[in-house]
Formats: sequence, structure tokens, C-alpha cells
Amino acid sequence: MMLSIHKLSKTYTNGIKALDNISLEIPIGLFGLLGPNGAGKSTLMRTLASLQMPDEGKISLGKIDILKQKNELRKVLGYLPQQFDVYPKSSAQDLLNHLAILKGVTHKKERKELVDALLMRVNLIDQRKQSVKSFSGGMKQRFGIAQALIGNPKLIIVDEPTAGLDPGERNRFYNLLADIGQQAVVILSTHIVEDVRELCSNMAIINQGKLLYAGTPQNAIAQLEGKLFERKIQKNDISSYQNKYDIVSSRMIAGQPLIHIHSDVHPNEGFHPIKSNLEDVFFKIIKA
Ligand code: ADP
Repeated sequence: MMLSIHKLSKTYTNGIKALDNISLEIPIGLFGLLGPNGAGKSTLMRTLASLQMPDEGKISLGKIDILKQKNELRKVLGYLPQQFDVYPKSSAQDLLNHLAILKGVTHKKERKELVDALLMRVNLIDQRKQSVKSFSGGMKQRFGIAQALIGNPKLIIVDEPTAGLDPGERNRFYNLLADIGQQAVVILSTHIVEDVRELCSNMAIINQGKLLYAGTPQNAIAQLEGKLFERKIQKNDISSYQNKYDIVSSRMIAGQPLIHIHSDVHPNEGFHPIKSNLEDVFFKIIKA
């Protein structure tokens, strides 16, 4: 099973080109779609979920033509949209049961087993009688995954899932996604580089609707191996360093800027080499 995206383009009526000739081949496993805010991630996700049409291009999931066979796609799709936070006051169990009815699981006993299995899988079985409204952010996201898993989907789309989660919740959510990624194509959109580095076997970087990188996180990191250097500088010196060097990132450490630069040769001047990392690669690629 492969998700194939072929020459996808979309321009909104306000003239913004949100997708610009995107082509990608995505195998089973966790795929990270990385890009800054406004890059076009949600547009791509909604298009893959057949919720919105592109101007041009084709998408197929195995034998399903996503843009032409929407009903076929929806039978094998699990979608966790951004800000999935509009819940009635029902308990987790009742809500899942209801959603399973909507997804066509009509047999009562089968449905009960499915709902219990899903609650176990996302580790919410003990909280099944609590209202989803009262859940923490992480619990809501895990519930969101449980509903997305009804019907044993082959394509699972999760849009910015870890925004607002604390580190513990994020970890639990990561583990759950890694587990799901063993049997399905899971696309995870995020602007958090850490999510992709920790989780994804393949990734893409997009910006302004354009595909800037597709491949493994390791290969992306290898591109800058031996070419990154750092040093602490004085605050007032930032602009002179900006003129002289290709700064990829800058962070404040105890009130002093620590800059990372890209350079083919060792720049001396108090710089020392650092290991290549996905965060710097990401900034370098979207700046280019
Ligand atoms: P991301 O998910 O990466 O933040 P989006 O796909 O939401 O990016 O947006 C890509 C670009 O398209 C942005 O410039 C955004 O303002 C614009 N955009 C998104 N949705 C619409 C819309 N319905 N109408 C007009 N412009 C839109």
C-alpha cells in the first residue's frame, strides 16, 4: 500500500498558492510533514482526506483514486483534524459508540468489543465513563486517535497533534502513533521538528506550497554534516554576524545569543563545529 501524490496544485481565490506542484510517494509507516505556519500543510491534509479539491493533480492510495472515489477513500480513512475539540457532554464510551454507529458498525456486540478495544489501545479504558469535555489536552488527542481508528483505516491523517501537550502526554501520544504506523500510512503534520525526528521514518519539508525536501530525517541531517558551527556572541554584534555569515538559528542562552551558522569551511573566529541536527537543517532548507 502506497500513497502517491502527483503534481498537486491549489490556489485559493485570494490568489495564495497553497500547493505548488507537489509530488510525493508515501509508504506504510509514520510520515512527517514539516513546514512553518502557512506552508500549506493543512491544505495538503484536507486534500488527502478528500475534504477539499485541488486545482490540478492526482492522488491514489493503493488502487483507490482519492479525488474520484471519495466514498471508497472514506471507508479506509482516519482523520484527526487540527483543533478537534468540539465535544458534546457524553462520556468517552458513549461518544465512541455513537461514532462507530455513524461509521457503519451496526452490530451491537461487535461495536461494544470495538469500543472497548479502542479505549484500551489509547489507554482511556479507566476514564471511559468520564465526559470527553473534561479530558486534558493529551487525553482528548488520544480520544481523537481512538475515533480516527474506527473501521481499521489504511490512511491516517493527524494535523498538528502535539500542540499544547505537556512532555508526558506528548510521549504517550508518540508511542500510540508509532504503534499505529506499523500497519497504515500515517501522515503527521507539524511545525515541531522534534516530533518528526523522534517518530518518522520518512518526511517532507514544505514552505509556501512548495516541496523543499523529501526523504529520511537521517539523509536530511547528513546534508549539513560537518558544515554547522556555533558560537556565543554579544547582542550588539548580531547584525555584523548576519552580514558575514549564513546564520541558520539563534537562541538566547542566559541573555547571550548563541548562533548556529552554515559554512563549507571552518570559519575560526571563535566558532566550533557541532553535530548536524534536524532543527538546523529545517531552518536552512526553508530559508534557502
Ligand atoms: P499550514 O497548515 O501549513 O499552516 P495552510 O494550508 O493552513 O498552512 O495555509 C496555506 C496558505 O493558504 C496560508 O497562506 C493560508 O493563509 C492560506 N489559506 C488557507 N486556507 C485558506 C482559505 N480557505 N482561503 C484562502 N486562503 C487560505
